[in-house]
Amino acid sequence: MKEHQEVFQTAVLGAGASGMMAAIAAARCGASVVLVEGNTKPGKKILATGNGKCNFTNEDQGLSCYRGENPAFVLPVFQQFDKDATLQFFQELGILPWSREGYYYPFSGQASSVQEVLLMELKYLSVPFLTDCRIAEVKKDKEFVLYREDGEIVCRAKTLIVATGGKAAPATGSDGFGFQIAKQFGHRLITDAPALVPLLSDQKSFRDLAGIRTRAKITLWIDGKNIASDSGELQLTNQGISGIPVFQLSRFASLALSRHERVMAEIDFLPEVSEKKLQQMLYERLLLDGKNETIGDALTGLLHRKLHATLCKTAGLGATDRASLCNKKQIARLAETIHHFKVSICGTKGYEFAQTTAGGVATDEIEALSMESRLCPGLYFAGEVVDIDGICGGYNLQWAWSSGFVAGTHAAIEETV
Ligand SMILES: Cc1cc2nc3c(=O)[nH]c(=O)nc-3n(C[C@H](O)[C@H](O)[C@H](O)COP(=O)(O)OP(=O)(O)OC[C@H]3O[C@@H](n4cnc5c(N)ncnc54)[C@H](O)[C@@H]3O)c2cc1C
Repeated sequence: MKEHQEVFQTAVLGAGASGMMAAIAAARCGASVVLVEGNTKPGKKILATGNGKCNFTNEDQGLSCYRGENPAFVLPVFQQFDKDATLQFFQELGILPWSREGYYYPFSGQASSVQEVLLMELKYLSVPFLTDCRIAEVKKDKEFVLYREDGEIVCRAKTLIVATGGKAAPATGSDGFGFQIAKQFGHRLITDAPALVPLLSDQKSFRDLAGIRTRAKITLWIDGKNIASDSGELQLTNQGISGIPVFQLSRFASLALSRHERVMAEIDFLPEVSEKKLQQMLYERLLLDGKNETIGDALTGLLHRKLHATLCKTAGLGATDRASLCNKKQIARLAETIHHFKVSICGTKGYEFAQTTAGGVATDEIEALSMESRLCPGLYFAGEVVDIDGICGGYNLQWAWSSGFVAGTHAAIEETV
């Protein structure tokens, strides 16, 4: 390939979800495109999505599913390429969508199908992709010039789409290089932090709670302020808390921790049962039902066995204490603990275990209609590198598809006028 001489219309840096979509969109507009990727194969992160099944979009596209300094930034982007356009796009590429409660997956049940159809389309459109090609520097003179670490020029292009991802799951190739490029061209960066990530606690009780999976409601408190709540399957590990409801709240905890604020998670282990009803249930189990010898016996069938000792201890009781000796005040305290179990959060499991990045390139310096930089003509951004992150449920990929499509289309059009 004559990468040294040829000036491409568009270079796409990063062949993840957003980069592959951007390259396809640009090529479909007739632009000459080159896709540059540091890994040996494009789309490595896609393979890990949705536990290997790839939850690639979601029926519900409420604005509250997207986060960042200005979540409404997604709206003009979605107006050009939304969830329906995504479903149609993938159907045309051969993916039969399958939905469970509005969460869309390929019917094959394999994330690799999504990666493969994108690769097939790139091939069909004759888009060259340069793999094993980690870019170390980008310069702009008349055009953008991309350099490898050894100083070799990889390619030249009139427009550049930065689709390098954020910092999440660095083993898949995204190490924050896109932030460096944005900064180089004068862009403001919103402090980044791991999101959709397990939270850590240094409370000793977690050693005894590891392995528990239970339905719960989690409420996040930052510096004494109630920030948000989420419900679902909570997982307790020897290091802290995990599972979907924790992931959904994690970006707030993560950013607060980076600002050295106090973070606390409050767990309600029986969210479906009101405070009054729970007290009544405990009263009956402990005092009226003569069969339960200990408090632990009385909690059996109500709460995961491994929780009994910790919850009793927190309430100032013992799981092996005689049930019949409990008084009303102790029962009320036990009910209160079950509904409001407090966990101090001291950290996150970090980018290695995060599914996405909160923060990134500030949206007020990007044109939402085109994803072009407002500071540097010809420079575009797509995907996770931008200060938009979605909740769990197909939203991060939807953002990658939509922003990739818009960036690709406009980078190609700018080229041809
Ligand atoms: C385990 C896991 C599960 C997930 N599950 C889901 C899910 O089910 N649904 C959902 O919506 N989202 C999910 N996500 C999030 C989603 O995968 C990402 O938000 C999305 O893939 C981001 O796409 P992107 O193209 O912006 O970045 P990336 O996919 O990170 O792609 C960036 C690419 O740029 C390349 N690159 C970076 N720097 C350079 C450089 N200097 N030179 C050359 N190449 C470079 C990287 O190698 C990489 O291939 C999951 C994430 C993880 C980690």
